[in-house]
Amino acid sequence: MYDLIISDIDGCLSPEDSSPLSIEKLNLVAEHNRLAFSQHDRPKLTLCTGRPIPFAEGLCRLLQNPSVPCVAENGVWLYDPSCNGYLMDPSITEKQLEMVHEAELFSLKTYRKDGVTLQPGKSASVTLYHPDPKVLQRLAPELQQQFDQHGFEFRVSLTLFYINCDLPQITKASGIDRLLEVTGIDPSRTAGIGDTSSDLAIAERVKTFGCPANAIESVKQAAHFISEHEQIDGVLDFMQFLMDQ
Ligand SMILES: [Mg+2]
Repeated sequence: MYDLIISDIDGCLSPEDSSPLSIEKLNLVAEHNRLAFSQHDRPKLTLCTGRPIPFAEGLCRLLQNPSVPCVAENGVWLYDPSCNGYLMDPSITEKQLEMVHEAELFSLKTYRKDGVTLQPGKSASVTLYHPDPKVLQRLAPELQQQFDQHGFEFRVSLTLFYINCDLPQITKASGIDRLLEVTGIDPSRTAGIGDTSSDLAIAERVKTFGCPANAIESVKQAAHFISEHEQIDGVLDFMQFLMDQ
């Protein structure tokens, strides 16, 4: 019934904090993929993440996906494992790339004193990190205001430990559109899973959307399937649900 499962990483396949990944449980996903790619009898699983492309590449390869592109950096990149392809969304202009660098410097100068750091490895977005979610919740509206005042055109959104600042036309949905276009996969044969606001864009594009128990309320409201289990246990639960359909 499904050809593809599009999964968020943080809060789904791995904890959003820096604690160790579950090798045993990731191996269950990898084994599922190994069979999906060799037997074509179950949906393949690929990634759709706000993380920088190297993290997506690493996890894609670990999860035994040899050929379906992953969406990284909230839609900026497709990583194509079949040819080691790094494909930036062609709608991103040189002017926007310059603005990203300016906004990066501006964010650092303004919020370094609050203990904020920038997530390394971003190419066409800016991501601020702080270990205390309360600090980020306080800073996010202020940052959006500052960007608007300085003419930096970004959409500012929160995950647990990060503030993501993305270009207006770039979302997980624009990334999924490119993914479906290059693979020719029928959107009505896709499923997706996510846990925070940027994943609402996954829900918009896939036929069936699920979330783990740790998802935020608005994501739960958009979901056809809400697992009782958290994070990767929730993903495995959703995969089982899809297989039983
Ligand atoms: Mg997440």
